[in-house]
Amino acid sequence: LATDRIVVIGGVACGPKAAARARRLSPETEISIVDRGPYISFAGCGLPYYVGGTVKQLEELWTTKFAIPRDSKYFKDVKNIDVRTLTEAISINRDEKTVKLRNLANGEESDLEYGQLVLATGASPASPPIVGLGLERVFHLHSPSEAAAIRELIEADEIDHAVVIGAGSIGIESVESFFAHAVDVTVIERMEQIMPGLLDPDMATCLTWEMRKNDIEILTSEKVIRLESTEDGKVSKVITDKREIETDMVLLAAGVRPNVALAKDAGLEIGETGAIAVNECMQTSDKSIFAGGDCVECNHRLTGNKIYAPLGSTANKHGRIIGSNLAGESEQFPGVLGTSILKSLGINIAKTGLTAAECARDNIDYIETLTPSEDCAHYYPGGKRFLIKLIADRSSQKLLGAQLLGPGDVSKRIDVIASMMTFGATLKDISDLDLSYSPPFSTAVDALAQAANHTRNRIKGTAQAVTGEYLKEKTETSEDFVILDVRQPEEFKKSRIENDRVLNIALTELRAAVKDTFQDKEIIIICKTGLRSYEACRTLRESGLLNVKYLEGGLIMWEYLKA
Ligand SMILES: Cc1cc2nc3c(=O)[nH]c(=O)nc-3n(C[C@H](O)[C@H](O)[C@H](O)COP(=O)(O)OP(=O)(O)OC[C@H]3O[C@@H](n4cnc5c(N)ncnc54)[C@H](O)[C@@H]3O)c2cc1C
Repeated sequence: LATDRIVVIGGVACGPKAAARARRLSPETEISIVDRGPYISFAGCGLPYYVGGTVKQLEELWTTKFAIPRDSKYFKDVKNIDVRTLTEAISINRDEKTVKLRNLANGEESDLEYGQLVLATGASPASPPIVGLGLERVFHLHSPSEAAAIRELIEADEIDHAVVIGAGSIGIESVESFFAHAVDVTVIERMEQIMPGLLDPDMATCLTWEMRKNDIEILTSEKVIRLESTEDGKVSKVITDKREIETDMVLLAAGVRPNVALAKDAGLEIGETGAIAVNECMQTSDKSIFAGGDCVECNHRLTGNKIYAPLGSTANKHGRIIGSNLAGESEQFPGVLGTSILKSLGINIAKTGLTAAECARDNIDYIETLTPSEDCAHYYPGGKRFLIKLIADRSSQKLLGAQLLGPGDVSKRIDVIASMMTFGATLKDISDLDLSYSPPFSTAVDALAQAANHTRNRIKGTAQAVTGEYLKEKTETSEDFVILDVRQPEEFKKSRIENDRVLNIALTELRAAVKDTFQDKEIIIICKTGLRSYEACRTLRESGLLNVKYLEGGLIMWEYLKA
């Protein structure tokens, strides 16, 4: 080799991680990081929280826990890594093993030799074909300077209303940032539901309901066509295929695209997802060039399919593996489950594995169940609710995916499921897990075990459920059937399904009432969560009434249908 220098292109998450790991394992090697931006090693994931004001100072996103800025000087002094900001890599010469750099401050170009090269070029926000994206006050939320500009405008009282285009993770997180400043928000999503990549339609409906409860306007199946401005060039109107919306700013959150131009021009293989193809050791089609983070595609651990799942958690793992391999090791990256979590307006939203929609697309014989849960014992104050959707293979009963949503603590549950799925767990494995319990932290039968047991009952046929949509459609027909509400009369008085077919017999009275009350009519039993109605279902079946089902997710799901 002319040089054994390691050159890293991209200095946010994957790049610095790879460089720092390589430095720890190879003290002698020369290491350079170049980034075309002014900031390096910043927490992009913290940007919405800076806009919302939870993070007070922008600098906190790139300082260490001990308040030292992670800038070029820090990398030189602490890690002996040369960092060049405002420096763009414009081409790679694989024969010569050089990268052509352009200094963005003065336009000068130079060549930098490498022994091994790392592409950590990340992703850029997508810009759909909307006229007027160049207007003032149309933002992405991808860099610290964009976050600073948005917050400055809000703090200057210039923004009463914002339109968020795109209801993916960044769009939905940003709703909370605007809400925190009492800015009214309209979210426009071109798909039929919000969070289409993360949630199935039923869970998306629940989230839509929670957002609308906070007066967030959610418009789905609607396409933005054009942005218009006032005379001063500031965006003032969003024109969709259905309406015109007056606004003071627009946040474009329509997803991200991997930055692959450098790799493509250098003749490196691009995968089927459009991101850079890498092997398990994170090498590109050129063994001396590694790539990781948002610019590469990953293996899905369940299906083995290639997917594009750009996340900071993954970028950091890639960085560490690349760093080790730069130093001569051969660590492998096994892939991802697509686990992610976010919060908006006090609602925590988490997902891992496959959605039901993905299972259907792949012709998997799956079951999906909804289980409303609480994150601590019902008698312990402060407990919060959440909803678990479990997806499992019907014959092997292996877990395929989960979605959790609500104000309660979903984070530990999603991580337990992701861990278990990594090792091929079945529903029974979840039921049997030795999870911690004390009233402030969970329920004696943990929410996950309840959800797994519920799903197993459904597979076995001991629990026969209907969905909210099914019941809703049925109530709109002239069919003769009974909706049996088994809650206590006091609960029934407070809220109920308004329908002539509804009958209230509390679970506590049901056994005694069974014989006299029902003939051969179909009965759909309801309660608040589905738990008492499942029990009631068993009681009626025991007494010979077989045409009995219960509303899965109970009145909680019914209420969500009003979204
Ligand atoms: C608002 C927001 C919230 C997020 N929240 C979360 C979250 O909660 N959880 C989570 O896991 N992930 C989250 N993410 C995603 C996470 O930030 C990214 O996955 C992560 O930053 C990817 O790191 P990376 O190093 O691969 O790429 P990037 O962070 O995109 O960095 C790539 C760098 O390479 C530079 N570059 C590109 N091309 C060149 C070139 N030719 N020459 C020089 N430099 C170049 C770019 O300027 C950029 O600085 C969030 C992202 C955003 C924007």
